[in-house]
Amino acid sequence: IEYSQRLEQKSRELEQTTAELREANRRLQELDRLKDEFLSTVSHELRTPLTSIRSFSEILTDNPDLTREEAERFLGIIVRESERLTRLIDQLLDLARLQAGHGDWNMAPVSVREALEHACGVVNALYTERRIGLSLEIKGDTEVAPVHADRDRLTQVFVNLLSNAAKYAPPQSGQVTVKAECRRDDWRISVADNGPGIPADRREQVFDRFVQVPEAEGGRPGGGTGLGLAISRQIVEHFGGHIWVEASPQGGALFRVILPRSGVEPRQPEAGQAAQ
Ligand code: ADP
Repeated sequence: IEYSQRLEQKSRELEQTTAELREANRRLQELDRLKDEFLSTVSHELRTPLTSIRSFSEILTDNPDLTREEAERFLGIIVRESERLTRLIDQLLDLARLQAGHGDWNMAPVSVREALEHACGVVNALYTERRIGLSLEIKGDTEVAPVHADRDRLTQVFVNLLSNAAKYAPPQSGQVTVKAECRRDDWRISVADNGPGIPADRREQVFDRFVQVPEAEGGRPGGGTGLGLAISRQIVEHFGGHIWVEASPQGGALFRVILPRSGVEPRQPEAGQAAQ
């Protein structure tokens, strides 16, 4: 009897191990599939600008009689596409570093006001020709309430949100409103614009790699990469915060960021506030 009980026990253990192995195998296959999918997306994204660089270079070499204006227009496209390719590669490497947890984080108490003012300065200098009305309003006891973050990375998030707002807002009548409020446990920052906004069913997807909303493409100067928001989310989450997008009352996009204050344990977002 003892022998048959032991046998039963062993057979149960074996069944359990088999099930675990099967599950591990399934997960490996899934990872493999994701890797293949990622590689094919990346190759496609890199090939697109390369294809136009190559085609326009060929047009230039095969047609020596092009007018000067035509040649300049094609050269302009080549330059813009090469710049986009460089941005793509830089951002891909940055994202890969962040996702692998190899980021060089210089964590320290950082002033949200300073980071926001710095980002406003950068974006004002970048988009002078678009005549964007940029307003910044900060509420709360800002000097004594830093967040625990990496200053450059935090500024990078704000520059990304502000440049998107400036890019997608109408060129001659763009309005970008940045608000920051210091609360007991956290900072709440919002960036609103009067551009086309993001349709409700795409608001979560824009934080995925390479996702670009076609409706907004018309107003996209220079060509985006679809990586900025994925990078921003990685960074904000590293600081224990949350980032998501809503519809702004002026009809545009309204990006929100919550960052826990330095020394305050990050809390789960209240119902309905963070992206689901
Ligand atoms: P991109 O380099 O394309 O701007 P992002 O990751 O920063 O990449 O943004 C992803 C997509 O989200 C954009 O291509 C655009 O479709 C949409 N988007 C981001 N910000 C805005 C905004 N302020 N207004 C409208 N659409 C936006």
